[in-house]
Amino acid sequence: MSTVTKSILADRILNMQESATIAMAQMARDLKEKGHDVISLSLGEPDFDTPDHIKEAAAQALKDGFTKYTPVPGLPELRQAIVDKFKRDNNLDFTPANIVVSNGAKQCIANLAMSLLNEGDEAIILGPYWVSYYEIVRLGGGTPVIVSAGIENDYKINPDDLRAAITPKTKFVLFSSPCNPTGSVYSHEELKAIADIVAEHEDLYIISDEIYEYINFVGKHVSIGSFENVKDRTITVNGFAKGFSMTGWRLGYMGAPLQIAKACAKIQGQFTSGATAFGQKAAAHALNSDLAPTWAMRDAFQKRRDIVIEKLREIPGFGVNNPQGAFYVFPDISAYFGKSDGEVTINNSSDFAQYLLLNAHVAVVGGGAFGADNCFRLSYAASEELLIEAIRRIKEAVAKLA
Ligand code: PMP
Ligand code: GLU
Repeated sequence: MSTVTKSILADRILNMQESATIAMAQMARDLKEKGHDVISLSLGEPDFDTPDHIKEAAAQALKDGFTKYTPVPGLPELRQAIVDKFKRDNNLDFTPANIVVSNGAKQCIANLAMSLLNEGDEAIILGPYWVSYYEIVRLGGGTPVIVSAGIENDYKINPDDLRAAITPKTKFVLFSSPCNPTGSVYSHEELKAIADIVAEHEDLYIISDEIYEYINFVGKHVSIGSFENVKDRTITVNGFAKGFSMTGWRLGYMGAPLQIAKACAKIQGQFTSGATAFGQKAAAHALNSDLAPTWAMRDAFQKRRDIVIEKLREIPGFGVNNPQGAFYVFPDISAYFGKSDGEVTINNSSDFAQYLLLNAHVAVVGGGAFGADNCFRLSYAASEELLIEAIRRIKEAVAKLA
């Protein structure tokens, strides 16, 4: 019998929330293993396989002996491909020295938080926001300050709210566009307004997470780092997970001012070193190749988006936004708060997600983890057939709430 009564764990982990997306995906897997027919729309992961030409490039790299450590910030060949991509797609001017390749965009953001934040510094996160931003900022010793918008504003912040949230302690503004969890895309003008506010403050940086760049239904992606007044203060984060359907390859990258890129490589050199060698070879090939498979996936997501929002709008009490990118929809379901099926009462978004999991066998993620407790996130990275069936079940389950 153990005599240990106190936890051996550090405060840093005891004070940290588990990733809600990953926790929900695991709950769905557990329920499936028990034999339930669960439709999991919880995890943000494209359901397509990685395009063959990328897999073949990795296989070739393995045969060619790319099985060793790489330079910490990435193979020169991949960093050059990223420089070319940033110029071609985003009108961003970097050299290979500005690029750091990491084990996923998630590690890029963690490297940045560790490199930029001192204890007590503030990081403004535009909400609704991706779950991990909040905890990564806290791990870096920073204080997350949320500037948020609701469905009535298409989940895009009012620039005056951003201006009001900036203090002398603010280190950076962090957001994703196209946005996880809302699918909202900030327009050229909206990004310009954010850039103009940041530019008013010396030493304030922007971390622009553009991992959904290629899944955009409204036209050309705009990188905030391409605006002249913030180009030297923007760190652009991107990755291979979404646009190339390479979630399991764990490959992300950033383009950053030299001082910051060096700091991120330094911390990565102590934590994990360079990303997988043969994966990096394949990633360079992906960026240098025709993007036709990526556009085909984007078109499939757009078709699903149309189906999903049409069906969700048929459900009474659902406020359904019109996502313009990524593969998420973020309905407002606060109309169901206080309602009950006779056994459980729905008081918040995690009650709602839990209710759907147990009663509809559909896994979604409560909006609370994204800073919007009146919503839930549904990932439509699943077949049309599964999506239609999932929404039918959701409709049936919520009809029992009164
Ligand atoms: N940023 C956003 C907005 C995301 O949705 C995700 C989820 N994959 C990431 C970063 C992390 O991506 P990666 O899998 O490359 O670590
Ligand atoms: N980013 C995806 C999501 O939001 C994958 C899971 C994760 O890394 O959080 O679901």
